[in-house]
Amino acid sequence: MPATDMALREGTYRLKLLASSRNVYKFASFVGVRSLTENASSKPVTSSPPETAADHLLYTREHFALKEALRKLIDQEINPHVEKWEAEGIFPAHKIFKILGSAGFLGVNKPVEYGGLGLDYSYSVAVAEELGNINCGGIPMAIGVQSDMATPALARFGSDYLKKEFLLPSIMGDKVACLGVSEVGAGSDVSSILTKAVKKGDEYVVNGGKMWTTNGTQADWMCLLANTSDGPPHRNKSLFCLPMNLPGVHIARKIDKMGMWSSDTAEVFFDDVRVPCENVIGQEGMGFTYQMLQFQEERLWAVANMVTTMDNIIQETIKYTRQRKIFKQPVLYHQTVHFRLAELQTEVELLRSLLYHATALYIKGNDVTKLASMAKLKGGRLARELSDSCLQFWGGMGFTSAMPVSRFYRDSRLMSIGGGADEVMLGIICKYMDTVPRK
Ligand SMILES: Cc1cc2nc3c(=O)[nH]c(=O)nc-3n(C[C@H](O)[C@H](O)[C@H](O)COP(=O)(O)OP(=O)(O)OC[C@H]3O[C@@H](n4cnc5c(N)ncnc54)[C@H](O)[C@@H]3O)c2cc1C
Repeated sequence: MPATDMALREGTYRLKLLASSRNVYKFASFVGVRSLTENASSKPVTSSPPETAADHLLYTREHFALKEALRKLIDQEINPHVEKWEAEGIFPAHKIFKILGSAGFLGVNKPVEYGGLGLDYSYSVAVAEELGNINCGGIPMAIGVQSDMATPALARFGSDYLKKEFLLPSIMGDKVACLGVSEVGAGSDVSSILTKAVKKGDEYVVNGGKMWTTNGTQADWMCLLANTSDGPPHRNKSLFCLPMNLPGVHIARKIDKMGMWSSDTAEVFFDDVRVPCENVIGQEGMGFTYQMLQFQEERLWAVANMVTTMDNIIQETIKYTRQRKIFKQPVLYHQTVHFRLAELQTEVELLRSLLYHATALYIKGNDVTKLASMAKLKGGRLARELSDSCLQFWGGMGFTSAMPVSRFYRDSRLMSIGGGADEVMLGIICKYMDTVPRK
């Protein structure tokens, strides 16, 4: 039997076992999984991929059960509060992560011994897709940082001690994580970060600062990238688990942003922060490499999240333009409008196919850096096109800040910048195409 089939079977088995041992949302629905077609009448007719495992390229019945359980949780625990949290510029990460963690959604592909479900990455993609049904971009991003951006390197290379101390409570939703890579002077060029961690006895002393830290004002620990030697920039960095309550960690400010309002973004300073040597993730000097690997999951996750939101925005736009009349007929019936929406839906389908292709290869153990970078690049560009075109069809209503389409316009702009800008993705793709001039 191929390794993937075995892994999937193993995953399915674990999911079923856990289904009977943990309750809350996911498992209530796993016990008596309804056929998803039962829901058909309550859902809009979409051109999304098949909603049953029998016809799906990647997902099994368990993926759909996981998605359905998460959808219930989103509808009950998150979406009713989104407007308030967007207005407040922050959401209660500890409360929401505890709910998600207790239900198993913060570590679907993480090891069972540290609280995860031990499944392959396609389940994380399924979770990310479903999180796209949250009525804003900020909360899914914050959840993604916890589950797929600050923790993959720890899960893969961290010591048992670090995993018990930081991974397990993050998966269970008891600790909030953040990722400290970008700095005031270094974002796209990660190798040029300046934050230093100097070894003194059995501790490192950290000085410097991090910028754009998602979850930063609420986090209990940071996955921190810092220079630990003066060697070549790709070999002189290490990743640390840095508790945010250590003396010398200062949250300088919460940054005001054009979008992602419910997600808090911090600037953080480190002033002689003493971190035990045992808090280094994996090998000293390997931080840059670990972070680059960590980025692959971040990028696939972001695309998965985005395709659902794009589907939803197209559907919302169809609904609105069908009932809004101009020149005696619905806006939708003007050919420029329905043709444009058809074109955009086609682009979303292409992006989804690329996502599933990359995911299928990734779970078989392949390097998907090129495909993940292509998907991230296309995701960012398509988000900009789609949000602009759809907003246009809403007319003045699209310009009001409470509309889903204008929120998407604001939030999705980040996709071409965060986690590696479009140009960084192009640089990676070119390296794989061997078209970059040699020095
Ligand atoms: C809301 C938000 C949340 C974030 N969350 C986090 C987080 O949790 N943790 C974290 O570490 N970081 C986070 N980031 C930082 C994010 O990853 C960076 O903003 C991103 O990597 C770009 O870095 P920069 O902003 O410093 O832009 P710069 O590096 O200054 O780049 C500016 C622009 O230059 C262009 N450019 C880049 N490379 C090239 C090139 N090779 N050729 C030509 N042009 C190029 C791009 O258009 C880019 O946008 C977040 C950012 C935002 C806005």
